[in-house]
Order: sequence, then structure tokens, then C-alpha cells
Amino acid sequence: MQLTRIGEFEVHRITEFEGPFVAPEAFFPDYDAEAVRANPEMTGPGLVDPASGKLVFSFHTFVVKTGRHTILIDSCLGNDKERPARPQFHRFKSRFLADLAAAGVQPEAVDYVLCTHLHWDHVGWNTRLDNGRWVPTFPNARYIMARREVAHWQAVHDRGEDSPHRLAFEDSVLPVVRSGQSVLVDDDYALDDGFWFEAAPGHTPGNVVIHARSHDDHAVFLGDVMHHQYQLMQPQWSTAACTDPALSRRTRMRLIEEHAESGTRLLPGHFPAPTVGRIVRRGGSYRYAFEMR
Ligand SMILES: [Zn+2]
Repeated sequence: MQLTRIGEFEVHRITEFEGPFVAPEAFFPDYDAEAVRANPEMTGPGLVDPASGKLVFSFHTFVVKTGRHTILIDSCLGNDKERPARPQFHRFKSRFLADLAAAGVQPEAVDYVLCTHLHWDHVGWNTRLDNGRWVPTFPNARYIMARREVAHWQAVHDRGEDSPHRLAFEDSVLPVVRSGQSVLVDDDYALDDGFWFEAAPGHTPGNVVIHARSHDDHAVFLGDVMHHQYQLMQPQWSTAACTDPALSRRTRMRLIEEHAESGTRLLPGHFPAPTVGRIVRRGGSYRYAFEMR
């Protein structure tokens, strides 16, 4: 189903999983249960799973049809990936390709895959398993990745670090580099359809947010600058998954400040449905105002 429009662009969200993912105190090293209790409107069932107490996450890909091109923003989890450190998603299988087809998109029709960063949960569908080999899922696509980000994960890979990100680099990034479909770009890359990257380092070294503009409409694909609405109430909370928590905090606070009350629509990487929203000021802090369909 169509999620929203950005001017002339049609935006779909292909969701592989939405539900309880991780305990807040495990995800946010600075987690403060008292701060959450003091803001009861932030603990609704859409944000936190009442049974387990875990944060509710969505794992999704955005599909943008610009009229000229079909563009994917991040490629989510993928099927059949070996992720022993993430048991919930180890050898995962989803209806991703069927859901993509239902949005009117066959793999051959994808022109670009734009990557906010190269964590395991953002690159999965870059590739699919074909007779025991990882091959690009989108045979005609160019996969646009920040050079700085690729260099970081290449080094992690070369060190043989035991992490789902190293496995993802091997099964979901290197195959598209070897096929010649990757395009490594600077942090200020722009695509003439009306998309451009902006450096947003901290969560990962080459992390970017992706702007989209059509006519007077402007939206920002935030990737993992924010994972959960709690980070609007407490913008200083970085995550256990951030490579540089202090830089991640500065980047997040800068972007929140810049887009609060600005009218810019945001499309975060893990906010559950309806996902699209705006930042509003509330007291000395912020809230996320979902855009209702
Ligand atoms: Zn993520």
C-alpha cells in the first residue's frame, strides 16, 4: 500500500518485521526508566510491547517511484541470511519480494538502491541466495553507498570481527561490489531526480540521511539517526549499536533541532506504522507527530 507522496513521488513501505525487538535498557545505555514513567504518553502499546516491555521496531525498505526511476532506500533484512547473533532473524524468511511486487515493482525494475549505512538490517535484500551463491537481487540497479562507510566495514571485515555487520558485509555488500553494481560516493552525493545525501556520522562512520524533494515538498529519510520515539523525548540517548555514541548524539540533536517545527516530513528507519511524521516541540523537549493517512 502506498505510504505517502513527496510531491510527485510515490512512496511505499515494504515491511519485513514489525514488533517487539529489544529491551530499552539493553538498547539505550543511558536509559532512564524514571524519565519514561514521567512521560506516560510515550509508553503507548505502539511504542513498547506491553507483554515483554521491549521496544517495538519496524524493519522496512522505502520504495520511491519518481516517475523516471524506481529507488529503494535501504534493503532491510533479507532472506536466508546467517545471523546467529540475532536469533530472531537467523535464516529469516519474509514476503519481501511478493510485497514489492504488490507495490508494482519487479526486481528488474529497480534503478537505484540508496544506502543510509551498511548495518546488517539495512542491506539484506541487496542480495538473494541463488544455488548457494549470493547474487544481487536487483540485476539492473546501481547500489549507492558512501565511500567512508564502505571503507569502515571493509576494515571490520578484514579484521575478521565477529559481528552480524561483518557477515552482512560479506553476504550483502561484497557481492554487489564484485558484480560492478556498487557506486561509492562522497557524503554529499546527489541524484538528479531530487535526492541528495547529507553526512550524519556517529551511528556509523559513513552514516548519511537522504533528502528527497519534489516541487515544494521536502522529506528526509533518516535511517538510524533515531531508532525510537524515546529519542525525541531524550535526544541525548545514543544506542548500544552506535560506533561513536558521542558523535551520534551530536548529529541527532543537530537534525532534531533543524527539523523540529519546520514542516519537513521524516521517514525513520525503524518507526512503526504509520512511520512518516514531523518533529514538534513539547516543553523543553520534542515529540514525534505521526502523519495519519
Ligand atoms: Zn537499523
